[in-house]
Amino acid sequence: MNPLFAGLGTTIFETMSARARASGAINLGQGFPDGRGPEDVLAEAARALLEDSNQYPPMAGMPALREAVAAHYRVHQGLDLDAREVIVTSGATEALAAAIFALVTPGDEVVMFQPLYDAYLPLVQRAGGVARLVRLEPPEWRVTAQALAAVASERTRLVILNSPLNPTGTMIGTDELALIADFCTSHDAIAICDEVWEHVVFDGARHQSLMALPGMRERTVKIGSAGKIFSLTGWKVGWMCATPAISSVLAKAHQFLTFTTPPNLQAAAAYGLGKDVASFDTMRAGYQRSRDRLAAGLRGLGYTVLPSAATYFLNIDLAASGIAMDDVAFAQWLLDEAGVATIPVSAFYAQDAVTSVVRLCFAKQDATLDAALERMATRP
Ligand code: PMP
Ligand code: GLN
Repeated sequence: MNPLFAGLGTTIFETMSARARASGAINLGQGFPDGRGPEDVLAEAARALLEDSNQYPPMAGMPALREAVAAHYRVHQGLDLDAREVIVTSGATEALAAAIFALVTPGDEVVMFQPLYDAYLPLVQRAGGVARLVRLEPPEWRVTAQALAAVASERTRLVILNSPLNPTGTMIGTDELALIADFCTSHDAIAICDEVWEHVVFDGARHQSLMALPGMRERTVKIGSAGKIFSLTGWKVGWMCATPAISSVLAKAHQFLTFTTPPNLQAAAAYGLGKDVASFDTMRAGYQRSRDRLAAGLRGLGYTVLPSAATYFLNIDLAASGIAMDDVAFAQWLLDEAGVATIPVSAFYAQDAVTSVVRLCFAKQDATLDAALERMATRP
């Protein structure tokens, strides 16, 4: 057995959801909405399932979805992608695996930012990469030039960036993106940009892709997820976009991971990406209202809530809230004593963890948020 995998635990998301199911707790842990998702997108998936082919679609993705992804990014982010530069994957998770396996050769150094999404490190290590971790800290979680310089070497090959950032709910700022672009160009590194939260941004902000910065078009792999864009997290339809020199190599990894993705879900994702701009604004406004409802309720109970600019998540600062427990102890206490599941943010650190922050998912019905708040009135 591979010792790397034999030594791995179960992901924090599955662990907390399983505990919530077992105890009947309200689950504000794992990030998934409790609504049905857009009915018209669901209807298109049902139609395509019953009326269209259910045999293997083309390996790189159905032309309609590849074209829809390119067109969508042209309209929403001003990018000049060609459909041939888009490869459809089974969720962003598969895109991450394919990109990491395709681009890392053993011994390559891979720069990542902590808190880091839990899939990155095991995939990089399995590919033989050497992790160089930049530690971000609350409340601003900012990337600095000094921190980047400290992880640079002549073996730097890849940077993996997640923006908007899960679990912090922050967006990597324009000045930070410029630093990272500089870093990539001066070290001849490729950036894998996990942008699954690109549409879930609030307060009128717009997502900025690293790919749009000078010098980055030819060295960025941009990853997206239909699951996040349409609030259908179980769908597992994603994509990776890169210049032909890179995407042709990514396709080689993808062909032996999943080869392809269910055709009816690809058809529905293509339909959904073509919807008018207003429908995405409506989705964002709904989540913003939920964010504000949970944040206001928590503040009313005396919790210190860190700013959330994007994603389904907001964070509580325990020390500032006057709670003398670390995040793991508090999350356990909240589950056992109040019946609310959350995610301790230290789970997103491989070393030197921030242990005073707990993540809550606000992508829930008002009644669910209100019930959780009622339970959280009990404090340790
Ligand atoms: N990256 C990040 C940062 C995520 O938060 C998630 C899931 N929430 C994924 C990747 C996985 O996306 P998918 O479900 O499309 O595989
Ligand atoms: N991305 C989701 C979260 O952060 C969970 C995804 C998963 O369970 N793998 O909660």
